[in-house]
Formats: sequence, structure tokens, C-alpha cells
Amino acid sequence: MRKWIVAGNWKMHNTISESVALAYAIKEGTTGLKNGEVVVAPPFTALHSVGEAIKGSAVALAAQNMYYEDKGAFTGEVSPSMLTDAGCKYVIIGHSERRKYFNESDENVNLKVMKALATGLKPIVCVGETDGERNKGVTQSVVNRQVRKALAGVNKIDHIVIAYEPVWAIGTGKVATSAQAEDVHDFIRRLLVEIYGCMADDVRILYGGSVTKDNIGELIAMEDIDGALVGGASLKPDDFLGIINKMP
Ligand code: PEP
Repeated sequence: MRKWIVAGNWKMHNTISESVALAYAIKEGTTGLKNGEVVVAPPFTALHSVGEAIKGSAVALAAQNMYYEDKGAFTGEVSPSMLTDAGCKYVIIGHSERRKYFNESDENVNLKVMKALATGLKPIVCVGETDGERNKGVTQSVVNRQVRKALAGVNKIDHIVIAYEPVWAIGTGKVATSAQAEDVHDFIRRLLVEIYGCMADDVRILYGGSVTKDNIGELIAMEDIDGALVGGASLKPDDFLGIINKMP
């Protein structure tokens, strides 16, 4: 039985004090939670403070990105050991905004995944097609390439979380239907089974893209949807807790 995850990607929002206030509200709203995992990904500047705020709670800390070297002359980058030092358990890798605005390639994503695993971080690996790709009918080949390349050289899949995030659904209010999402989740599951055998049954595959407390119910009812990666709706406690409360 896979444990669901609801992860909030705060993107480039919130000062340290705003982040801490949001973290406390989520912590309070999730006391006693046992059957799933709640993850928050604040901006780098707030990681440590949020990590302190959520100590002893059911909420885990994630970073939104990392570099694939331990240290050195890489101005502006943050290393995986800096993230574990700040209290991170998870790291989001290959978000479509990083691929689009920062030219992150499948090869970069793979280097980051390998380094995160070697450092003890659990990668949340984002994949998903653009609307142009969906219209051309190449969704499966795009996702196939992204998943295979991201996981090249990964022998054990147990610390990996995949987030299927159709790019056309991110921040647009255009959520995928539960059937559209399940189609791709099922495809990813079968791909993982092909590569990793029965280990793939335990991998959590999250859906991301305009998730709200009103649409998550239908999505989470699907067999291969194990939770959500949430952007906009993770910034308001009521909206985010509303999503968590719909989990099985
Ligand atoms: C995201 O940033 O990963 C995301 C899914 O954003 P939103 O929920 O706002 O579409």
C-alpha cells in the first residue's frame, strides 16, 4: 500500500516570516496525521526557519532545486549537503519552470537525481508534456524520454517520487481530467515496472497542475495517483489543508 504525499511548492513566494507563519498553520492543521506525508518546499532563504517551525510534526521539508556538486566555485548555486543541513528530506528536481526558464536538460536532471540520492535526499522528479506536445500526440514519448533519462543509472527506485505535471496545467487553472492524468500515471507505472520490476509498485506518482481542494477528490480516486504536487493552492492554509483533508 503506497502512502500518499501532498507536497506544496511555494515557488518564489513568501518572506521568511510569511513562510514560517504558513508552516505553523500547516503544522497545526496536520496534527495526528498518520496515513500519508505532507511536504512543503519554501524558497531557499526560508528553508532553515521553516525546518525549525515544523520540527516534531508530520510535515517534511523539501527544496525546490539543487546543484549536483558538493561545493566549489559555483556562484549562486546550493549544494545537496547544504539542503540536508537545513533539514530537507526531499528535493524537487526538473520542475518544468526550471526546464523552461533555466534551460535545465534531461542530463542535468539526471545528474541532480544521482547526487540527491547519494546525499540522502529523496528526489521528487517532475515530468510532463507541453500543450503542443499533447496536441501532436507525443505525450507518452515525451514522458518516456524524461523518466528514462532522469533515472539513468538509478538502481534502486525506493527513494524516488515522480510528479507528473502536464505543463499546460501548471498555474493555468486547466486541470487534467482524472482520466487524462490516470492514463499517464499508468503509463509511468508500466514503464517503471519494465525497468525496475515489482519495486515500481511502491513508487509514489504525484499529479501536479492546478490542483485545488475541489478537484483533488476525483484525481486521488485513480489507482495510480498517489498524491499531489501543488503550487498556487499551497500558499493558503485553508486551500492546502483542504487538499490534504481529501486524502484517503
Ligand atoms: C507546480 O508548480 O508544481 C504546480 C503544480 O503549480 P499549480 O498547482 O499552481 O498549477
